[in-house]
Amino acid sequence: MNKIGIYYAYWTQEWDVDFHPFIDKVAGLGFDVLEVNAGTVGNMTADERRELKAHADHKGIALSYCIGLPHQYDIASEDEATRKRGIAYLQQMAAAIGEMGGGRMGGIIYSSWPSTLPKHVTDKRPYLERSVASMKVAVKAAEDNNVFFNMEVVNRFEQYLLNTCGEAVAYCQMVGSPNAKVMLDTFHMNIEEDFASEAILQAGEHLGHFHIGENNRMPPGYGHIPWTEIAAALRQINYQGYVVMEPFLKPGGQVGADIKVYRDLSTGIDMDDAAYKALLFMRGLMK
Ligand code: MN
Repeated sequence: MNKIGIYYAYWTQEWDVDFHPFIDKVAGLGFDVLEVNAGTVGNMTADERRELKAHADHKGIALSYCIGLPHQYDIASEDEATRKRGIAYLQQMAAAIGEMGGGRMGGIIYSSWPSTLPKHVTDKRPYLERSVASMKVAVKAAEDNNVFFNMEVVNRFEQYLLNTCGEAVAYCQMVGSPNAKVMLDTFHMNIEEDFASEAILQAGEHLGHFHIGENNRMPPGYGHIPWTEIAAALRQINYQGYVVMEPFLKPGGQVGADIKVYRDLSTGIDMDDAAYKALLFMRGLMK
């Protein structure tokens, strides 16, 4: 049975927060996994990381790690110094996660987020080639630290390099490391993929991490994503990884601004109860 998790930022307005309260909260709700910000973990002291891991272990919660690289760390950048900073940052996060026993780190780690091609540029291939070359270097830190780098496929309004599962599979094949994997997210798939099940089958053994969310980023079960089809496809490829929900309901703060939440989707909803219902919904689907 897949471990089911939730992203801490469901409850926060800022990215950089104390994760300890969320370990207790998600354990209380019955989740298996808490996904946290890889950048925050990378900047913690070794003692802080040890305490976080010990707390998670004590509560029986597995941790996974996510980040959209800020522009100064864009490993696809035309600027060599920026690419070098980005590679070093990926290495720093991989080492930090390695200290905590390794695990899954994903998101927009192959470029920056949110991002578009520069004005008047129509060919993304040079960006892709620079990203692959950078990732070939950075992924060695993942290999050395028992970390998996999961390339999250996101929609065209947030990034331009990997918008479809096919592009991400090709990217991972070019990187050529067992620690470079594909990450899919149902919210983004709903915009870019012809059919969710086909994309999952195409990912196959390359699939390293799976984000779930509704078409409007509500918790699973509150929208029109074809969940039965998705669960069947995950079963068909024998996906054993985590399934992590990433709902965003509240405007405000840096989270609301970056995610572009311009209306309060939580009106009339008890946030903890909605997460719990979505967890039960997913457990029913995934069994
Ligand atoms: Mn996601």
